Amino acid sequence: MANSNVLDDVFDNFVKGAKLFKDREVLRHDYLPDRLPHREDQIRLLGSTVAPVLRDARCSNIFIYGKTGTGKTAVAKYVLSHLESKAKEYGAQVKFCYINCRMTGSEYRVFAALSQSVGLSIPFTGLSVGEVFDRFRTGLDQSRIIFIIVLDEVDALIKDKGDAFMYELTRINETLHKSKVSIIGISNDLRLKEFLDPRVFSSLSEEELVFRPYDAAELRNILLERSKLAFQDGVLSDSALSISSALAAAEHGDARRALDLLRVAGEVAERQGAKAITEEHVRQAEKHIEHNRVIEALKNLTLHSKLVLLSVYHLNKSSATTGEIYDVYNELCGEMGAGLLTQRRLGSLVNELDSMGLVNAKVVSMGRYGRTKKIRLEISRGLIRDVLGSESRFSQIMTYQPKALHKGDN
Ligand code: ADP
Ligand code: MG
Repeated sequence: MANSNVLDDVFDNFVKGAKLFKDREVLRHDYLPDRLPHREDQIRLLGSTVAPVLRDARCSNIFIYGKTGTGKTAVAKYVLSHLESKAKEYGAQVKFCYINCRMTGSEYRVFAALSQSVGLSIPFTGLSVGEVFDRFRTGLDQSRIIFIIVLDEVDALIKDKGDAFMYELTRINETLHKSKVSIIGISNDLRLKEFLDPRVFSSLSEEELVFRPYDAAELRNILLERSKLAFQDGVLSDSALSISSALAAAEHGDARRALDLLRVAGEVAERQGAKAITEEHVRQAEKHIEHNRVIEALKNLTLHSKLVLLSVYHLNKSSATTGEIYDVYNELCGEMGAGLLTQRRLGSLVNELDSMGLVNAKVVSMGRYGRTKKIRLEISRGLIRDVLGSESRFSQIMTYQPKALHKGDN
């Protein structure tokens, strides 16, 4: 009964409270705006690179780099959708296929998606990667088209599976007679070159396009345009707009981050029944987003990283040494029946946890005893209990009392 009253309040507040959003959807990551301010140069360059296909000529491959949220996906989709309508107008035999490689997840599925877009149906499993590729190549050649392949977030797939599939793709024109392929590769990682066979790299980057981060003023413009569609008039305060842009610019000029701040700030304000979105709502949104980021990071750790973190948790000291962590980790592995990593490997996992902001590892000088590393948790114990404790495989070791802890007790 009490519960349902609480919920009544939540629903009533929501319905009766001021309506802040006009259209929440336009703040989503995949919303494609009509205008992309501050990306005119990139749009023009990508446009002139793909333009030859309107005269039935293959266009150069192009490689696009930039950190997340710099507008790569938006620009690529924007240019291609305009190209598509122009191609219809001129009757050019052009087709394109957009693939997000991180979400597609495997070479098999990439080739299957390419096959589907030239009208072939490929079973979900059962063929070898090579067979799928051959079917795609044959089907493509019969279609007599210029085929533009967009491989977005290709860095994720290459790091995961290697670049063999890219090697096949970049050489495909050598075996086609009636169709031609051009590739637009997009990477969030500026160092992707180091992961690529030099032949693949040089073939992919016939043209290169770099997206630099947005500065605070540019982000403010982008947010301003988007907020006109997203919020009711006069709801978003000027200071909330400025602080959202400034926070996202300080991170790495990430428009996605800026849009998230705005959306979550709007939701926070809405839940509080506020009539306007203020700077304070953005600050709360930032905490909220950071909290969710930490939870995601925790959930996605590998087993041994989780065990290392749990060892620091069990030690419950303001500073622990790698040796102490290793002793507890050793016991936890025993309890779980998990194989043990070396202390050296554990050291690198600790560094990784440090770079993710989950622990703090500081090297301190011990005078004539040399240097040692002091490690402590950087997130709350409660959060670890909630997130890792909810995994049933850890239920025993959450409450486990490590023997190593009592070594020096008596
Ligand atoms: P990336 O692919 O580089 O990670 P996206 O293209 O996905 O970045 O952009 C992230 C979000 O920011 C998207 O919602 C996109 O619409 C928006 N965005 C990025 N650049 C601009 C811009 N110049 N103008 C308007 N919106 C932009
Ligand atoms: Mg993208």
